[in-house]
Amino acid sequence: MKTDIGIGINVNDVSHEMYDLITDLYPFCRSITGDGLRKTLHSIEKHIPLTINEVKSGTQVFDWTVPKEWNIRDAYVKNSNGEKIIDFSQSNLHVLNYSIFINMKMPLNDLKAHLFTLPDRPEWIPYRTSYYKENWGFCLSHNQLLALKDEEYEVYIDSSLEEGHLTYGEYYIPGEKEDEVLISCHSCHPSLANDNLAGISLATFLAKHLGQISPSYSYRFIFIPGTIGSITWLALNEAHIDKIKHGLVLTCLGDPGKSHYKKSRQGHASIDKAVIHVLQHSGQDYEIQEFSPYGYDERQFCSPGFNLPVGCFMRSPHGTYPQYHTSADNLELVQPQYLADSFSKILSILQIVENNKKYLNQNPKCEPQLGKRGLYSAIGGLTDTKKTEMAMLWILNFSDGNHTLLDISEKSGLEFDLIKKTADTLLEFNLLKECMD
Ligand code: ZN
Repeated sequence: MKTDIGIGINVNDVSHEMYDLITDLYPFCRSITGDGLRKTLHSIEKHIPLTINEVKSGTQVFDWTVPKEWNIRDAYVKNSNGEKIIDFSQSNLHVLNYSIFINMKMPLNDLKAHLFTLPDRPEWIPYRTSYYKENWGFCLSHNQLLALKDEEYEVYIDSSLEEGHLTYGEYYIPGEKEDEVLISCHSCHPSLANDNLAGISLATFLAKHLGQISPSYSYRFIFIPGTIGSITWLALNEAHIDKIKHGLVLTCLGDPGKSHYKKSRQGHASIDKAVIHVLQHSGQDYEIQEFSPYGYDERQFCSPGFNLPVGCFMRSPHGTYPQYHTSADNLELVQPQYLADSFSKILSILQIVENNKKYLNQNPKCEPQLGKRGLYSAIGGLTDTKKTEMAMLWILNFSDGNHTLLDISEKSGLEFDLIKKTADTLLEFNLLKECMD
């Protein structure tokens, strides 16, 4: 079976839908648990039929425990005149994520121990969390901090940290076969557009598209809080993890930076080869990174006990762009054109994954005579006849049951798309037969 992964999609239109979803989700105060995360999943549910799972606080997941659920309603710091000088309703980044309840008065010096700023970027608010150590705090611009007078402040955080649940979303698209492609994105950051929302939105619209076509692989999309979410998901789904044949963690896909791909721990998995091929032929600058045990949820998928073929696809990697984890990772940094470019590349990657098959040359003793079969005229419509002829020769020679189309593409230096289309023609002329595993 042939799958055309890009069928019926207008990436430009989708890029604006992706941007609109990012805009809708941007104000929610997400965290690794709680109602901000739930609201996010319910918004995604308007686009794809998501299954929303709730895992109880205290559940043991490998070496970790699902934490208490955190929710926040309001938070501020008032000066002695009763003016709110830091206000959660202005930006949810103002509160140290997972801050415990507090309601007290204190002098500036005591308050300062709980304030976080970025002296190098004095206009931006940093994003800080304290998930596993009970604490409270406020994040503010350094300019705001410098303007604080030595007086008494009223500090109020109306939050709760109680037994509850960790929430995650999952969407399974059955394909022709049970083998799966796993697409994962973290969904736990508050108002940060590139780091979390771009991945969420891209995954949502990719899932929507794949749900409308008939892919050969089954696809599993998971929208999870970072680290604890993937650990929880792996703990609960360990029994059928061997179905995962390829996977991508999607993150930071809407900024102007060049594409980056961090390889799976395996390093030479099909997904690694597919992504590298697409980037090599993109005509754009890109960077390939070796696997390292630091970054996003690929850390868990690629832990030695799982070692799944899952890489991480992104534009600017975490920590490398100045807006990372600050209020400047906003709706201006992310733009539809970059989302569109990321989306197109992912479609090309999946096009390879779906069609990277092995064939057997049906006329392996010497080259078949292509002219007498009318193959030259059959390929006349293709843009570059000479290139297509080369593609035919490469495919015929290496279709020995041991080489995939991508292997042949790499050997020949020819683009996968041309190799695939040419293989389709050779199939029609009965010069190839698909190898069944
Ligand atoms: Zn982050």
